[in-house]
Amino acid sequence: MTDVSNDVVFITGATAGMGAAFARRFISEGARVVATGRRAERLDSLRQELGDRLHTSVLDVCDREAVQQCVASLPPDFAEISVLINNAGLSLGGGKFQEDELDDMLTMIDTNIKGVVHVTHAVLPGMIERDRGHIFNIGSVGGVYNVPGNSIYGSTKSFVHMFTLDLRAELLGHHIRVSVLEPGAVDTEFIEVRARGDKTARDRHYKGMRIISADEFADILFYAYSLPPHVNANIIEVMPTDQNWNRVAIHRET
Ligand code: NDP
Repeated sequence: MTDVSNDVVFITGATAGMGAAFARRFISEGARVVATGRRAERLDSLRQELGDRLHTSVLDVCDREAVQQCVASLPPDFAEISVLINNAGLSLGGGKFQEDELDDMLTMIDTNIKGVVHVTHAVLPGMIERDRGHIFNIGSVGGVYNVPGNSIYGSTKSFVHMFTLDLRAELLGHHIRVSVLEPGAVDTEFIEVRARGDKTARDRHYKGMRIISADEFADILFYAYSLPPHVNANIIEVMPTDQNWNRVAIHRET
C-alpha cells in the first residue's frame, strides 16, 4: 500500500474526464485533493461526492494572476502541494491547419502550453522548498506521432513532452519526480469538446473500438506515483489495443 495520507494533490481540469478520475482515485487512497477547473457546478458536485478531503477552486489555467492567487491562498490543510497533475487541456477543430479557426489554435496554445507553465511556475517553488514532490504532465500520443488534424494540438503536446524532460533534468538532485503520461484514446468529454459540444461525435469517433476508461487511466497514473520514491517514470505512453499510429502517407499521381 502506498501511504498518501500526507499528500496534497493539485489537479487542473478536475471537472470532467481524467481529472475527475484522478481526484476520485487519490481521495479513495486517503490523500487530500485540490480540484480545479472553470465549471463551478461540476466542482460543487465533486465536493458533494468526495467530501471534506476535497478542496475546490474555480480556476482558468490561462489566467496567470488567478493561478498565482489560487496556489497562494489555499487553506493550510491544502497548501503544501506534493503532487501536481497538469491535466487541463483540449483540442478544438481537428481539421486542416489552413481551414481551422485561428482563435481555436490560440486557445489550445494558451491552455495546453501556457496553462502548464503558469501552474508549474506557481507550485514548484513550494516543492523545492520542502524538497518533495511529483509533477505529472498529461501529454498525448498526438505529441509523439503525427496525426492529420493535429498540427496545433499535437505541437502543444510535444511541448508538454519536452518540458517534462527538461524540467526533470533541471531538478536533478531534488527529491521531485517529473513524469509525462501520453495517452491515446481515453473515454472522456475530449471528443465532444473538440466537436464543439456535439454529443454524437464521441460515438462516431470510437465506433467499433474498445477505448481506455478514465478510471483505467487513473490507475496507470497512480501506479507511476506508487513506485518507490527513488524510481521516476519519465514517460508513459498508453494506447488502446485497437489504436495504432499512422503509416507513412503516400500521394500518387493518377
Ligand atoms: P475532458 O474534456 O473530459 O476534460 C478536460 C478538462 O480540462 C476539463 O475538466 C476542463 O474543465 C479542463 N479545462 C479545459 N480548459 C481549461 C482551462 N482554460 N482552465 C482550466 N481547466 C480547463 O478531456 P480529458 O479528460 O480527456 O482531458 C484531460 C487531458 O488529457 C487533456 O490535457 C487532454 O489534452 C489529454 N488527452 C486526452 C485524450 C483522450 O483521448 N481523452 C488523449 C490524449 C490526451 P472546465 O471546462 O470546467 O474548465
